[in-house]
Amino acid sequence: MKKHNFFAGPSVLPDVAIQNSIKAIDNFSDTGISLLSISHRSKEFQAVMDEAQALFKKLLDIPEGYHVLFLGGGASTQFYMVPFNLLEKKAGYLVTGEWAGKAFKEAKIFGEAIEVASSKDRNFNYIPQGYVIPSDADYFHITTNNTIYGTEIKEDIDSPVTLVADMSSDIFSRPVDVSKYGLIYGGAQKNLAPSGVTFVIVREDILGKVSRPIPTMINYNTHITKGSMFNTPPVLPIFTALETLRWLDNLGGVSQMQKINNEKATLLYDEIERNKLFMPTVPDAKDRSIMNICFVMNENYAELNDTFLKFASERGMVGLKGHRSVGGFRASTYNALPKESVEALVSCMKDFEAMH
Ligand SMILES: *Cc1c(COP(=O)(O)O)cnc(C)c1O
Repeated sequence: MKKHNFFAGPSVLPDVAIQNSIKAIDNFSDTGISLLSISHRSKEFQAVMDEAQALFKKLLDIPEGYHVLFLGGGASTQFYMVPFNLLEKKAGYLVTGEWAGKAFKEAKIFGEAIEVASSKDRNFNYIPQGYVIPSDADYFHITTNNTIYGTEIKEDIDSPVTLVADMSSDIFSRPVDVSKYGLIYGGAQKNLAPSGVTFVIVREDILGKVSRPIPTMINYNTHITKGSMFNTPPVLPIFTALETLRWLDNLGGVSQMQKINNEKATLLYDEIERNKLFMPTVPDAKDRSIMNICFVMNENYAELNDTFLKFASERGMVGLKGHRSVGGFRASTYNALPKESVEALVSCMKDFEAMH
């Protein structure tokens, strides 16, 4: 049976990216040896690194003065690497979910970290508005898509200080005005590649301003100088990321991707609103994520929660169970999820409604 992959991460990737990774594991770039056993300093792998960086710059229209890095350690390592490199006195954090909270917690180790606003009072089901970013902060940190709670900041906000964003789960889902950010980072395993590689887009003029000594491996300048080859980079995930970026480029880039993503999200949110059994967990449509669509059973049908999960899994839907802090269901509709999978879920919801 065809599976419909709604996992939140690691998650669905383009078929072509997976197939070409399998081929490269067998015989990488006609070298006659596996991608898994070739030197990262070979000219064949250097070409992968160069093209992956170039496609990042092309697809996100990254201006001069920025560098694209591929590092290990996951987005969680960036939670402390950012303040280590940027926080001298004070930083502001927008606390819109669990990951944002974890980033905020790490920053407090290095200096004064301020919670500028939070949506914790309503279990993170909205994006705070009308907050004031302290103009004396070294930077302001946001999480653009809250993977667990299904809220998203869909526009590039204006900040009087350096803007830093965790874009783990919405990178490449829409055009981004990179010039508004000093640093963007994310784990690759939501929208780009298997786990193991973390991307960082950093503007060089924000670095070198803190007084603390920075260990070599967590100094961004080390990786800029060495082209992400100071130590052995995560070779396989970088290769798959390149294949995903080629797929996206062939599809027409991030504007086209955004159009498709909006179609998928609209289809599903409309059904959640229409169907008597279900309701969305994020009340305000403008705050709803187009990547992670969270919904629950309507109060009167709460006892059907597990029955629906079972019904859906019998039809090939995987990864629909909501995160434990929200409950219900979460359909992750990342770039590589085909529209047919969303249509299949919508029919499944309609059929389930007809039975109850
Ligand atoms: C998954 C996720 C993380 C954690 O990423 P790791 O690579 O596992 O450290 C951080 N932030 C967001 C928004 C995420 O979705």
